[in-house]
Amino acid sequence: TKQVLILLYGGRSAEREVSVLSAESVIFAINYAKFVVHTFFITQAGDFIKTQSFTETPQVGTKLMTNATSGASDFVSPASIYEKDAVVFPILHGPMGEDGSIQGFLEILRMPYVGPSITSASVTMDKIMAKHVFESVHVPQVPYVALTDLSEIEQKIAEVNDKLSYPVFVKPANMGSSVGISKAETAADLPSAIDEAIKFDNRILIEQGVNAREIEVAILGNSDVSSTLPGEVVKDVAFYDYQSKYIDNQITMAIPAEIPDETIAKMREFAEIAYRAVAGTGLSRCDFFMTPDNQLYLNEINAIPGFTQFSMYPLLWENMGLTYGDLIEKLVVLAVAAFDSRE
Ligand code: ATP
Ligand code: MG
Ligand code: MG
Ligand code: MG
Repeated sequence: TKQVLILLYGGRSAEREVSVLSAESVIFAINYAKFVVHTFFITQAGDFIKTQSFTETPQVGTKLMTNATSGASDFVSPASIYEKDAVVFPILHGPMGEDGSIQGFLEILRMPYVGPSITSASVTMDKIMAKHVFESVHVPQVPYVALTDLSEIEQKIAEVNDKLSYPVFVKPANMGSSVGISKAETAADLPSAIDEAIKFDNRILIEQGVNAREIEVAILGNSDVSSTLPGEVVKDVAFYDYQSKYIDNQITMAIPAEIPDETIAKMREFAEIAYRAVAGTGLSRCDFFMTPDNQLYLNEINAIPGFTQFSMYPLLWENMGLTYGDLIEKLVVLAVAAFDSRE
């Protein structure tokens, strides 16, 4: 009998379009000799719609449905995704996908699922919480100021001006794909950068800007952690914003990254330490800054990284000899193992 895989895509967060592309890559690459795939679209309002089922590789150009055909009559109860022995792949980024909420729901349903546990999702999704955890295991990070009480904006601005130097990056604590992030070149830009981030979250992180290369390591595993050689995001843009990530295609990837062996070793070690510290489960992409003098700073861990066939995470594994299709199968095995260890 074939393994049933339930793909959840779309979702409530500002990253829903990326999620659809990742899910489409999976339906084309998965091995239908072993899998049957049922797909559910989650609308921006959070409603579930059962969309398609695949028992063989779809025709080129097939798209996953992203719209209700007849409105609310398409909506199903979220719990109706349940199927005995099925594994869920929540390819959802950002809040309500990568933050532990869907993971908690799947645990209540007692279904195995690919990727981060409740803890690893929620800790890595909140950039402020993640900083505290990385600090506790001595993984280097850029200096920052956290704004968690919006009645303290004035004091925090004073703290930024005292502790950090410009430019600084202002980020909503819970987001991804650079949504809501801006670079404040001077103190005069800071209030509007904070206003922008507040649109997405009431927890705000203000970070020291660094002039650095962006190097990423892929992690796979539960307690048995493995990492890849790093890859570099080569930008000809000042900052890797949403437009450059998904619209302009201004980014190229260098895999493997050309950096000294000892820096690679240090980076993989930091990535594995950080992954364990946030109770990493399944997969993660660990993003570093590397300064011209080879200083490393962990920027963040993405617990459900972009997962199209052209995304950094799968390409890093491909470079290690693991194909995209085999990677999906590994993730399913890890999902079942994590489930068994919880039950
Ligand atoms: P992802 O899509 O990887 O989840 P994200 O929304 O979580 O991204 P970050 O990775 O924190 O956001 O920041 C987005 C981009 O902004 C980085 O890739 C980098 O180009 C730039 N950036 C962020 N913080 C800094 C910093 N402290 N110094 C320099 N550049 C930064
Ligand atoms: Mg991120
Ligand atoms: Mg992300
Ligand atoms: Mg990032």
